[in-house]
Amino acid sequence: MPASPSPGPSAPPLISVILPCLDEEEVLGETLARLDRMAADQPGCRFEFVFVDDGSRDGTAAILRAAAARDPRVRLLRFARNFGQQIAVSAGIEVARGDAVVLMDADLQDPPEVVGEMVALWRQGFDVVYGTRSARPADGMVKRGTARLFYAVINRLSEVPIPSDTGDFRLMSRPVVEVLRRMPERHRFIRGMVSWAGFRQTALHYERPERFAGRTKYPLRKMLAFAADGILSFSIRPLQLSIALGLVAAGLALLGIGYALFMRIFTSIWVEGWTALMLAVLFMGGVQLLCLGILGEYVGRIYSEVKRRPLYVVAERAGFDEGEG
Ligand code: UDP
Ligand code: MG
Repeated sequence: MPASPSPGPSAPPLISVILPCLDEEEVLGETLARLDRMAADQPGCRFEFVFVDDGSRDGTAAILRAAAARDPRVRLLRFARNFGQQIAVSAGIEVARGDAVVLMDADLQDPPEVVGEMVALWRQGFDVVYGTRSARPADGMVKRGTARLFYAVINRLSEVPIPSDTGDFRLMSRPVVEVLRRMPERHRFIRGMVSWAGFRQTALHYERPERFAGRTKYPLRKMLAFAADGILSFSIRPLQLSIALGLVAAGLALLGIGYALFMRIFTSIWVEGWTALMLAVLFMGGVQLLCLGILGEYVGRIYSEVKRRPLYVVAERAGFDEGEG
């Protein structure tokens, strides 16, 4: 029995699949075909496919517009510019009508065929079924290594555990979706927000293939910003780092003062010490700048939160009913 309100015996449950897309014209034809086949393999469910075009500059919107015109299950939300994948997913969650919602990359690295297994676990009563990568042949050494480091750091700092080797590919029941919809924050780290929500969560292992076509839309700069959002949105421990650094510096200063007094009173070589002075000045300067920087990151986040701008701007909708969404 699903934990979400059951749609009754006559209507099969509706599953919303949310796919954020940035310049994905090369893969979308195949993605639509694979989704269609997946839906055909699940006669016990109805589907809607919510594509969020996150400011693509290629033919993505045209392909999706055409798909929405011929297939009533396809819905398109086109952003006025690129707002980022996490925001695109959030917009999809906002408009999804399903009893369960699946988040999926459009590049087929999250295989649509796995959705059937996710739905089965949901029907057994799990509220979140998150896909965990049992193999990552597609990712190089660097990506795997940095990913491991990132999850080690975030799980030390964060107040909620965040499963490693897990992306956003997951199924969520309606109650979890409603929790997410009540989280208005700007700097969004969806997988952490889902962990925070709680409920019954379980992992589903799958093999993550390579991107079907096209290039990654996550250059290093975006990856770092994403990692910073993950850590800074789920922990204030970095702020407490300055206390630790301050204690260490104060301890060293005490030692230095003892040494200086000793030299001054009991020896005659007390004018020297330029090296020690420089070291102390440089060390303290560095520590203070680091702490200011950490403080600044949080202040900047507070600033962008209090502006209360809308999370995204929609330029076009297709496949929506009149007055909806
Ligand atoms: N994406 C997006 N907006 C962005 C970056 C990415 O909507 O600013 C989408 C992208 O089209 C894809 C998914 O997010 O469907 C994951 O991106 P990608 O496959 O490039 O990331 P990777 O798998 O390389 O980490
Ligand atoms: Mg990908």
